[in-house]
Parts: sequence; structure tokens; C-alpha cells
Amino acid sequence: MTQTPRPLSLLPAEKLAGIRLIATDVDGTMTRNGKLSADVLAAISRLATAGVEVLPVTGRPAGEALGLARYLPEVREAIAENGAVLVRPDQDVVNLWSKPDRDLLLRVAAEIAGPNDRLVLAEDAFCRVGDVAFLRQGRGDEEIGKMAEAALAHDVFVIWSSVHIHLSLSEPDKGAAVLGVSANLGYSPEQILTIGDAPNDAGLWKAGRFGVTVGTADVHHHLAALRHTPDWVSDNVGADAWLEMAERLMAAIAAAD
Ligand SMILES: [Mg+2]
Repeated sequence: MTQTPRPLSLLPAEKLAGIRLIATDVDGTMTRNGKLSADVLAAISRLATAGVEVLPVTGRPAGEALGLARYLPEVREAIAENGAVLVRPDQDVVNLWSKPDRDLLLRVAAEIAGPNDRLVLAEDAFCRVGDVAFLRQGRGDEEIGKMAEAALAHDVFVIWSSVHIHLSLSEPDKGAAVLGVSANLGYSPEQILTIGDAPNDAGLWKAGRFGVTVGTADVHHHLAALRHTPDWVSDNVGADAWLEMAERLMAAIAAAD
């Protein structure tokens, strides 16, 4: 049973004051028109000064996430492919799932799309190591949800973001990946705030896992498809939602000092 998220503006500052890690989706959550903007980069740096680390947790491939980990200010690692791998600049990739049987995933993708439809492989397939991703091409939550049901008969999991449909042999769970990785970084679950915008972020919102869970205003469109919902929802979408969260968090930490 999922709960209706409450407005982020009602989140008490005391609940935010102890947050030291933001585990964040990237596309549709930190981005504006698909890009990271200067105000978001500046906020990441200001958060670091306030003692808060940012951990990107994306459905994007390992190759792209490595670029985020290398070039974003103050960011030292990233989780890619909805929890499949941890990437860290100049270190070996850490596989959080077992290696996938790519041919099997492609066969199941062809079957669940049906004879009159075809899933088109995402252009970033060459830099994926843990899953296989396809373009959404305008497909709605309900249509992809039916594909997910059909895939489960083959022990294959389907999850979707604002941009892609992902197939994997391990159950995609960004939240489980964050719990493992953040423990190694020295954070307790209560010190972690999670934020996302789409069904592939549901694991970040599972009740009882993290100190504070936030969704962008886009979650209102996905409530029927979500396994877990965030406790709090911002007034805005994309980068403006992320900045709304970051400003509230920094204000709460400053007030507690
Ligand atoms: Mg997203």
C-alpha cells in the first residue's frame, strides 16, 4: 500500500538537519532540458561545504556514470544501471549484480514487445555492463507495466525511467544498491536523503530505508505505477525540484549549527 506524498514545504527542518548524503537520480531529477546546469553544480559544491556528499544513482550506463563521478564537483563515485554497478574514477568497476546473459534479455525483449511492435535498443548500449536498455518511444506506464508482467514469466525484470525501458536478470533496486554503497562510505541510513522522479527510483523511496525520501512533482503522474512512494514531494520538476530540496537541506543544517 503506497502513501500519498506530502509537500516538501511541510518537511520539518529537524528531519533534514542530520542528513549527510544525498542519493540522487540524475535524468529528470537534477537536469533541466536534459542538461546539468551551473546552478545545480554550484549547489553540489555548497552542499559539500555544508558537509553533505552527493551520490548519483542513475539508470544511465556505467560508462556515462563514470563521467559523472569523474567530472561533477565533489562527487567521488556513482551507481549506474539502476543498481547494477558502482563506478569510481581510476578504480575497477564493482558489479553489484551478476553479469547478464545479454542474448537472453534481447530475446525476451522481442517477445514482450509483440509481433507488431519492436523495442529499439538505446544508443548507449555499448557502454552498459549490467542490463539492456531500450528507448521508451512514448510508451506509457500502463503499456510498459504489461511488458514487465510478461517478462517476469521469463524471470526477467523490466523497469523504466523518464527515457528508457530496462531489462535485467537481477531485480533493479536503486535503494538496495545505495544501502550497500553508503555503508562502505560510512553513512547510516538515517543520514541519507533520496530523491528521484520516475518508477525506476521506487527503491529509493521504500519505507523505512532512508532518513528522508523525496520525489519531484513528476511522481504525481506515476503514482499508479509506483511500488513505493516518497514521503515528500517538491513543488517543482527536474533541476528546480533538486534545488528546492538542496536549499531546504542547507537551511536546515545552517539553522542547527
Ligand atoms: Mg529520472
